Amino acid sequence: MSRVNNHKPQSAGPDKPAIVGGTPVFAEPLEFNRPTLPAYESLSGDIRSILESGQLTNGPYVSRLERQAEFYFGRPAVALANCTSGLILAAKLLGLTGQVIVPSFTFFATSHALIWNGLEPLFVDIDRDTWNIDPIAVAEAVNPGVSAVMAVDIFGNPSNKDALREIADRHGLKLLTDAAHSLGALYRGRAVGGFGDAEIFSLSPTKLVTGCEGGLVAVDDEAFAEELRIARDYGNPGDYNCRTVGLNARMTEINALIAAAGMDMLDDNVEARNRLAHAYRQNLSGLPGLTWQKVAPEDKCTYKDISVLIDPGEFGIERDALRDALAAENIPTRAYYDPPAHEQAAYKGKFSISGELAVTKEVSANILSLPVWSHMTEAEVDKVCAAITRIAKAGLT
Ligand SMILES: *Cc1c(COP(=O)(O)O)cnc(C)c1O
Repeated sequence: MSRVNNHKPQSAGPDKPAIVGGTPVFAEPLEFNRPTLPAYESLSGDIRSILESGQLTNGPYVSRLERQAEFYFGRPAVALANCTSGLILAAKLLGLTGQVIVPSFTFFATSHALIWNGLEPLFVDIDRDTWNIDPIAVAEAVNPGVSAVMAVDIFGNPSNKDALREIADRHGLKLLTDAAHSLGALYRGRAVGGFGDAEIFSLSPTKLVTGCEGGLVAVDDEAFAEELRIARDYGNPGDYNCRTVGLNARMTEINALIAAAGMDMLDDNVEARNRLAHAYRQNLSGLPGLTWQKVAPEDKCTYKDISVLIDPGEFGIERDALRDALAAENIPTRAYYDPPAHEQAAYKGKFSISGELAVTKEVSANILSLPVWSHMTEAEVDKVCAAITRIAKAGLT
């Protein structure tokens, strides 16, 4: 691994950031993330047989993906068109009412799913170290109008499932997890998917396993899985007499085929991202004011995103200024999740928050997600880190 502060000059003024006239570290724009996909040749025979069979949705490839996911999670799994529909249907079929405790530091689909069910999100704060829903804040927010807790495994870092289960059981609440980021994560050594009343995964293009689009719901028992399979098909069990007001949330056979190939690569890709996260941390360890997401030693994070919290006083540059300076180096970044859900234009002032959400505000204002994908190289990480380092050094002097 190159030590960025010793790097050899490649052109005049190599320490000059691009934003003040230096040569960009990347000549061509780097991508923020990229799907890791199987080779076409490995799927072409199956694509042909899907097209020739005429069975385009909810067929043998969807069933095969569900069996593969069940084996992985150790409990029943249902495939859907996307995670959002899985969140909506899981919340509906679990019979939630009134308020649902949810973090605001998340992608807005988490709370959208509650609102589509006529439920009220009750936003709570996150933990300062893990950036996940804070069990203490959850316990404080519980009131008689609350029917469930919806956790999020942010960036693939498992939420504190034992503490949340304990609180939920104590108050008779359901526990769901938006596990959109955490397919492939381990909680206390066990695969995420095996916890709570439902864990809902996304197979959208930015996630570790993608079906182009898609979702998976892991649930407690086969009866609930069967209800979800009916609900994803408008609520029609086959006799055209709907048992529930469902959605069209079916997964296509081709999506399932692509997702199944991604499941085969999942564990390797989680390992690869853990190496990249380690490389980012090591490479930037000499810079002050950077804090990385804390993952419990007995857990495994998928690093759907590798994000860093910037203390502007210590680091010398504010998050947005670093973002702009990196953009000039042809390095795209994201401020996930700023604004947090409760401050989205569609939400502002309309929903309850519990407490001040002080940590949510601080993390949202100072976080930056750096480029990562499963087949990204450590050399690419080194170059991103070299850019961050020269920007920081220029900013500090
Ligand atoms: C991607 C994502 C979703 C939505 O997933 P879709 O499959 O696109 O519906 C929901 N929650 C979180 C946290 C996500 O990152």
